[in-house]
Amino acid sequence: MKVHAMSFKVAVLEFNQETNTFSKLKTGFKDFEACHYFKGAAIEDNCRGTNSEIGGFIACCDRYGWQPVYTVAARAEPGGRVDEATRLRFVADVTAALAGEKLDGVFIVFHGAMCTQTADDAQIQLLQVVRSIVGADLPIAATFDLHANSAPEMADLLDIAVSFRTYPHVDMADCALKAGALLQAAMRGEIVPAIAIRQPPMINGCNDGRTTHACAMTELLEIADAIAGEDGILATSINAGFYDADILNTGPSAVICYDKRKVADAVAIAHAERLCDEIWQRREHQDEQLPLSALAGAIAEHSGRQRGPGPLVIADFSDNPGSGAYADSTRLLAGLLQAGVANAAFGALCDPAVVAELIAAGLGAEREVMLGCKIDPAVGGGPIRVRGTVQAISDGRIIFEGPMFQGLPASLGPSVRFHVSGIDILISSERQQMLDQNLFRAVGIEPATYDIVVVKSQQHFRAAFGPLASAIIEVDADGLSTANIGARTYRSVRRPVYPLDREGEIVAKSTSVEVLA
Ligand SMILES: [Zn+2]
Repeated sequence: MKVHAMSFKVAVLEFNQETNTFSKLKTGFKDFEACHYFKGAAIEDNCRGTNSEIGGFIACCDRYGWQPVYTVAARAEPGGRVDEATRLRFVADVTAALAGEKLDGVFIVFHGAMCTQTADDAQIQLLQVVRSIVGADLPIAATFDLHANSAPEMADLLDIAVSFRTYPHVDMADCALKAGALLQAAMRGEIVPAIAIRQPPMINGCNDGRTTHACAMTELLEIADAIAGEDGILATSINAGFYDADILNTGPSAVICYDKRKVADAVAIAHAERLCDEIWQRREHQDEQLPLSALAGAIAEHSGRQRGPGPLVIADFSDNPGSGAYADSTRLLAGLLQAGVANAAFGALCDPAVVAELIAAGLGAEREVMLGCKIDPAVGGGPIRVRGTVQAISDGRIIFEGPMFQGLPASLGPSVRFHVSGIDILISSERQQMLDQNLFRAVGIEPATYDIVVVKSQQHFRAAFGPLASAIIEVDADGLSTANIGARTYRSVRRPVYPLDREGEIVAKSTSVEVLA
């Protein structure tokens, strides 16, 4: 008997950024370089064995014997819209890498909530380019962050879609393995995959996707799993969406990936609509954050309690650069200084001008600086005058060691540890969400040795800092990524929509929700 070993040629590309359309910043090429912009063989060199989507793709190449065509892997910290020069450069680099390749499949790593200067839906914009190169029929698989804002129309351009199932996102490689297994089955002709996407009339929901305790998202994933158990359903995903974006398709979505040979389109759509109804029913499930006015009381209560070892970890929720916020708000820092805390670490506050000033002053120098709130002084409380000592200077380069992005390089840019009356402040030159302890260690801050550790993060910090925390407090100090949706003006979202419009009006206009009403 002859065994014909098939080795499929699969191209991989990553165009990954979450866009906060309320940001004043544009996201340019240097912002991708600060995170990563790998081309060709550098993709495998940097990503093999890492807990990232590309790490999972490489594992698929090993498992299935694929011949990879490495194009470009580009990721930037969340921020404003991606500028057109950067998008065109990415497209040109991918196009050049694909020239002359006879492919069996394409594997794309998206965030799913990227906007460019020329499109509110950068995923559809890029998929149209890729389709124009590889044709309408080649199977394309894509992975998504569960904060994707996914438009139903994307289903026309994509065969396989799988989203993360954890927040903090610790299943990036697993998500890629799942998408890769379906791509392998599609290339072998065992399935004919397609996707159906529907959205409930909401701009936020699913408890923002949190999976660290039993809540809306964990319930929804269970319901989605039951559907995934049906014959011909290949994968089911729940996206919580990303509400710091004012675009038509902001908000949660349900994505059904199915085998067209076994499941009718209408059945898949009905599954997606049912999941949307389940999301709608849980629309009021939201974790709440403390207002800044409650901070001092919460710290006093915590220090008065008998507790285990480990720091009190405080999240500066609304200044999370991982949601595109500026990471230079001073409100929470000012609150801590006012409360007179001791043995505290705070990071990362992004202020490149102050970093340059303090590096020039040198190690051990004492300086008075105007710190923070340079990008938009109207957001985050304005710069504050502080006097302190430069205790460490660093190039800010680290390798992630925690559960998220484990093994991938990252950079804070030139950074300092500035000691200001009881608080060691990590001041960076790049905006970087505090999701890994090594970011603090770049300037010699060992988080476990502090009584209080403040992190500019909403939820991702829990993966690396949760295990060492004696307690966790989330504080919303009215930064750019505040959970207070009423604080911003939405102009482009579809209407009527929860929670901006009256529920009666939403239910009357929504076919999906009407089923339940
Ligand atoms: Zn996310």
